[in-house]
Amino acid sequence: MSQSIDQLIFAKWIFTADHNSEVLENYGIAIHDGKIIDVDQHENLKSNYSAKQEFNLTEHILVPGFINAHTHAAMNLLKGYANDLPLMTWLEQHIWPAEGKWMSDEFVYQGTKLAIAEMLKGGTTCFNDMYFMPHQTAEAALDTGIRTNVGLTVLDFPTKWGKDADDYITKGLEVYDQYKHHPTINFSFAPHAPYTVSDEPLKKIATLASQLDLTIQMHMHETQHEVTEALKNTGQRPLARLHQLGLLSPRFQAVHMTALDEQDIELAANEGIHLIHCPESNMKLASGICPIDAVNQAGINIALGTDGSASNNDLDMIGEMRSAALLAKVGSGKADCFSAKQVLAAATLGGAKALGIDELCGSIEQGKFADLCAVDLSHIATQPVFDPVSQLVYSASRDQVSHVWTSGKLQVENFKLKHIDENECRSIADHWREKLKN
Ligand SMILES: [Zn+2]
Repeated sequence: MSQSIDQLIFAKWIFTADHNSEVLENYGIAIHDGKIIDVDQHENLKSNYSAKQEFNLTEHILVPGFINAHTHAAMNLLKGYANDLPLMTWLEQHIWPAEGKWMSDEFVYQGTKLAIAEMLKGGTTCFNDMYFMPHQTAEAALDTGIRTNVGLTVLDFPTKWGKDADDYITKGLEVYDQYKHHPTINFSFAPHAPYTVSDEPLKKIATLASQLDLTIQMHMHETQHEVTEALKNTGQRPLARLHQLGLLSPRFQAVHMTALDEQDIELAANEGIHLIHCPESNMKLASGICPIDAVNQAGINIALGTDGSASNNDLDMIGEMRSAALLAKVGSGKADCFSAKQVLAAATLGGAKALGIDELCGSIEQGKFADLCAVDLSHIATQPVFDPVSQLVYSASRDQVSHVWTSGKLQVENFKLKHIDENECRSIADHWREKLKN
């Protein structure tokens, strides 16, 4: 007797991202109640299950949905707003003034929705966000079904979301209380950077994070300038200062990390922190190059993020994987550094580990949520296929993403978003472009 289930997906290739990181050929996945209940060969699944819906992806590679481990989703409204500038000029003279003027609940909700449409269409099923009005990020994510880790931003200085560090923490905790029971929403504290948050609030965050079992995400060592200034002002490198304040542990996600010396890497490895690599943003802002080879050798978990659309300028995880692989090679002088398989693992399971949600998603394994992405490799740009993973990383584009599921919910079918109206997204973008021009 075959078991009745929701969906069967058969694919030419499956990259599971589990411990073996193997590529299965002519396998399939059984899904029920949003979760993966079986991974097996076609004929076994056919005889064991009868599904309400069946997908035959005969030219496709099926991978875990990408986890964009660092972004500021609402900043999609500022995509292309200021370009070809170094980090501090870009932030202080363009981005912060525009946000100061236009930031609102509507800005965050609509910008996040636009970003979610872009992410889902490109195969991303989870994003780790850091922005203001985090309840709006949560609302936009809940309205679409994408998984998210909402960062509770903390700064010393006032914005439209908070007055001072204590106020950001209080408001953040209210949002956490309001949404913590939703299975697709997780939270972390998000102190912006070592140079924007002082010691007292950082100590408070360390205590609260361990009491509430929350992770912490923070921009770290983004540029050499940041490290040099910190040495001048505090006498310590930022990572060493955070260690002294009690922030470093496996709950800590260090975003960027381009300016690292041997002691930084040793400290990061000893404390078990996660590194969130954002190569395209680092290149565009000329911030620096994260030493992936040394980080890898130290055994530090690497996740991959795009950063916000205003400094990338897209949320394309397939493009980010390619940039990450290529930059690691030229940065280290080693062609075998950050292989296609390693970079695909960073874009999936590495992200889930960094966010502390690897029990839920990040690989194609029995018991995990069915967060999945199928890429059609029949396109002439990805022919012939000797190795589907290298083809995905080095040759494919996100326009080849044909199907996407979040918790078993079909989000993209035959290259089209099923539940988000793209014309509405274009109207949102037009509306805000007109406003921001002034
Ligand atoms: Zn960032």
